[in-house]
Amino acid sequence: MGSMARKNVEGTPRRSVGGTRDAKAGSPDDANPGGVRSAAPFVPVTSSVRTLAAAAHACRGCDLYKTATQVVFGSGPKGARVMFVGEQPGDQEDRQGAPFVGPAGALLDKALEDAGIPRDQVYVTNAVKHFKWEPRGKRRIHKKPRASEIKACRPWLEAELRAVKPAVVVCLGATAAQAVFGSQFKLMRQRGHVLPAPLAPQAVATIHPSSVLRAPDSEGRRTAYEMLVADLEVVAKALRGR
Ligand code: SF4
Repeated sequence: MGSMARKNVEGTPRRSVGGTRDAKAGSPDDANPGGVRSAAPFVPVTSSVRTLAAAAHACRGCDLYKTATQVVFGSGPKGARVMFVGEQPGDQEDRQGAPFVGPAGALLDKALEDAGIPRDQVYVTNAVKHFKWEPRGKRRIHKKPRASEIKACRPWLEAELRAVKPAVVVCLGATAAQAVFGSQFKLMRQRGHVLPAPLAPQAVATIHPSSVLRAPDSEGRRTAYEMLVADLEVVAKALRGR
């Protein structure tokens, strides 16, 4: 991580956010069709998660801000030892402006408890910070973010990792795993192992809690939940070893 040189002063964005020039820099859809999308111009140089979260409201690094209610930045205690990375906020997260507050978050809390990971050591975030959805009747249905959107949002994840400095990063689901390990990562083949990653000294991938909820029957949900907890026990062991 940290591949991009940061020359501006602590806590200030590399360009002033919100101005016309900046919108062009981060929104090539309107002003610069075909340009490379990135959150980088909106990410301040800071070790404060609060400052990062405040700046993220102005991000125009891809188009997803246009249809979401608000940005959903990561959250957790200062000095969190483990960072969980999901795919993107869900419907509830988008409405409330906080990560993992919906049904998947409740299931993650239960799995953390069963695996012996104290919730007060956990920072939670997503690879993509705005909710991507499509209408189905009156409902907003989750839509998988594109690789270009995950890449555009990556500077925020890199900044969170620099600020939080977790001992272990846990990727929840294939999108988060590919954001952290790279696009060649195969979740079901490589989950449940402590691996080095470009963005973190130790990282573990597992299934997303929402995939437990989506299992077609109670037996499938039980099997998937046990898989999630088993992988989180690997994380708990890695944390005890540091
Ligand atoms: S999804 Fe990420 S890059 Fe795109 S606008 Fe939101 S914060 Fe910026």
